[in-house]
Amino acid sequence: MTPRSVPFHRPSVGEAEVAAVAAVMRSGWLTTGPVTAEFERRFGEYVGAPSAVAVNSCTSGLQLALAALGIGPGDEVITSPMTFCSTVLAITHAGATPVLADIGKDGNLDPASVESRITPRTKALMPVHLGGNPCRMEALWGLAGRHGLFVVEDAAHALTARYADVAIGGDPRSDAVVFSFYATKALTTGEGGMITTHRSDLCERLRLLSYHGIGARDDWQYSVVAEGFKFNLGDMQSAMGIEQLKMQDELLEIRTRYATIYREELGRLPGIVLPSTTENCVNAWHLFRLGVPGVRDQFIQRMKERGVECSVHFIPVPLHPFFAEAAVRPENACPLALTLYSQTVSLPIYPAMSESDIRYVAECVRESVR
Ligand SMILES: *Cc1c(COP(=O)(O)O)cnc(C)c1O
Repeated sequence: MTPRSVPFHRPSVGEAEVAAVAAVMRSGWLTTGPVTAEFERRFGEYVGAPSAVAVNSCTSGLQLALAALGIGPGDEVITSPMTFCSTVLAITHAGATPVLADIGKDGNLDPASVESRITPRTKALMPVHLGGNPCRMEALWGLAGRHGLFVVEDAAHALTARYADVAIGGDPRSDAVVFSFYATKALTTGEGGMITTHRSDLCERLRLLSYHGIGARDDWQYSVVAEGFKFNLGDMQSAMGIEQLKMQDELLEIRTRYATIYREELGRLPGIVLPSTTENCVNAWHLFRLGVPGVRDQFIQRMKERGVECSVHFIPVPLHPFFAEAAVRPENACPLALTLYSQTVSLPIYPAMSESDIRYVAECVRESVR
């Protein structure tokens, strides 16, 4: 095969986004305004949530959700070790203590491990839909209900994913669901995020805290009524988001087709473990995580020599020096996460690739697992 160069990601951004952003730039109103309000309305409608609050990143959205729920010092929040560092940093920035539960073979939180980590101080569960494959939410909502816990979903990968035929963000059993619009995510505004909720009280609190805690406003007068943050999203980003939102069904269809090709091409290869999709769910296929036990690092090198850039999702939280002290505590032990990490690699999968790029990557996988 003729060698190609396949980067790990390229965003799908076109002239519609350029025109929409330019129109905002010409309008004279650059920060949070009518375009952001419109983006929130459309996004909420798309996922089936009555309220949506736009924020400047998923990370700040997660922190904001915890703050709005009143979670702080002395409280514990249970999350996954198999996530981006910011899920856990959002918990520490809120002043709370992160507790890691172990994951299942799918890379998502194992409900049994979560249950074993619940203490009288536990206030919330923060599941992460790894790669866009939904967590076993029924079990997690059950635990939350029995123990009186909040549920805040890290849905950075999960726009267009569905749990039991309901879009992620559309189920009222979670208090807040937080999406990322970072440059590599399915919907991008460069930087940005969105919190959806079915609770109007929480929506009000999120909105207040997202903008300095400024309550009533009248002409030039305003009053600060809470210790808020500066987490709002501006109209230029929202204009881009509105255009990106229009393509999401189409982009999902392409990623799903590409995942099917990978599965068909790689399914029978020895030495390979294919990713799974939770039963009765729609996987958003933000990532295609492949198990290559025993040869992961060499595999990445061989793929690189063939022009294909791979990645790893994620370096587990306990392996980062900042979390080292917390990681040795028994309540944070997650052996399965560490094992899966050593075996797993993410292949490029995004709509800006062509179908022949996908087949090229599959061919390179066949040559690289040998
Ligand atoms: C990207 C990502 C985030 C952070 O998103 P930002 O919008 O960059 O803050 C959080 N969690 C996961 C799982 C992510 O992949």
